[in-house]
Amino acid sequence: MSDHPPFKIDEEFCVGHGRCYALAPESFQPDEMGHGVVRDYRDGPATREPGVVVNACPESAIELITVGGDAEKGSQS
Ligand code: SF4
Repeated sequence: MSDHPPFKIDEEFCVGHGRCYALAPESFQPDEMGHGVVRDYRDGPATREPGVVVNACPESAIELITVGGDAEKGSQS
């Protein structure tokens, strides 16, 4: 198992749409302001479709951390 969470949220871009924790509550939770927070990866099962969650963020604030530790940002279309 990886020793880091599979996601990272850029707090500068997150405005609190809530799509991340609506789509993948096993990986994200809201903070007190409704902004997305990555859950501790040891809390539960991994998100089945991480790319879908990354691309669901309207602000491209979610990054998928690959095995080598690099981050891959979602793209807006
Ligand atoms: S979907 Fe994006 S903007 Fe919305 S709460 Fe999650 S990370 Fe923040």
